[in-house]
Amino acid sequence: MKAAAFAYQKASSIGQLSESLAQGEDVIKLMAGGQSLGPMLNLRLARPSKLIDVSGLEELKQVHATKDEIVVGAAVTHAGIEDGLIAKSLGASTPLARMLAEVASDIAYRAVRNRGTIAGSIAHADPAADWVLALTTLNASVACSAPGGGRRLVPMTEFMQGAFTTALQEREFISALHIPMFSAAMRWGYFKFCRKTGEFAEASCCVVLDPQQRYARVVLGALGGAPAQLPEIARTVAERGAGAVSPASIEAAVQAAHRDGDLPSKRMAAAAVKRALAQLEQAR
Ligand SMILES: Cc1cc2nc3c(=O)[nH]c(=O)nc-3n(C[C@H](O)[C@H](O)[C@H](O)COP(=O)(O)OP(=O)(O)OC[C@H]3O[C@@H](n4cnc5c(N)ncnc54)[C@H](O)[C@@H]3O)c2cc1C
Repeated sequence: MKAAAFAYQKASSIGQLSESLAQGEDVIKLMAGGQSLGPMLNLRLARPSKLIDVSGLEELKQVHATKDEIVVGAAVTHAGIEDGLIAKSLGASTPLARMLAEVASDIAYRAVRNRGTIAGSIAHADPAADWVLALTTLNASVACSAPGGGRRLVPMTEFMQGAFTTALQEREFISALHIPMFSAAMRWGYFKFCRKTGEFAEASCCVVLDPQQRYARVVLGALGGAPAQLPEIARTVAERGAGAVSPASIEAAVQAAHRDGDLPSKRMAAAAVKRALAQLEQAR
């Protein structure tokens, strides 16, 4: 199948993008890397009357760091992060920078990563997507910008509302992702089961522990909807370490978070949690 006809505009600035979003009755879709939208158009699951291409907007490709957070522009590609953009902006290869680079390097394969963007992934909201899981675990927020200049920060835990459904409102666009800064003591584990390299996860788990900031979060991905936090497991990790988490507590947590899953997917989810926790232990 081929895409239905649509008008195409290559945005030359945020101002022009905002103007186009504000005016007209077009059903507008933004296009970043086109890696998810392209198939959606061809299958006619998306039928916009107008596409606005934001892939050339330098304003959306910036990364900058403050004392409290890293702000990653919406159109930063997976490949850019894989190649060290975060460490460059921090001036150091911190655990957080290494985590982001490693998550990026595991998305699909290089040709997809060269074009696919962090905001495109979050806006598409595939339940098995890597950024959805990693950024939820890191307690990141999504900067949703309105054409009139307004901007609101939506925590990842509220942004993804279900499979392919987000809190983004009509005519809003993502301008950046805000990732809290973690200390040098931060550790993490990230494990996903894929049938073969370059495919979406069938089960995935991300764990982040920062003892200095008293932060621990354990999140399950690839559940068919938004990722699910496992707060009991996170509490044990924070208080007694990943080694103290019992297999029985993992089974119970997965059972509660993945009620609709069949037995094999629950077993894969539990194994993903165990392996992500083992990585955290090894990172001591
Ligand atoms: C073969 C293949 C394998 C893949 N494997 C994986 C994988 O293992 N893990 C994984 O996580 N992903 C995977 N992906 C998806 C990939 O990461 C895509 O890059 C990503 O999902 C979409 O990013 P994009 O920049 O291409 O967005 P696009 O395809 O351009 O857009 C996707 C959606 O986001 C919207 N959008 C884009 N930018 C914005 C913005 N700034 N504000 C608001 N809405 C916006 C678009 O309107 C559209 O609805 C795979 C893709 C392919 C083709």
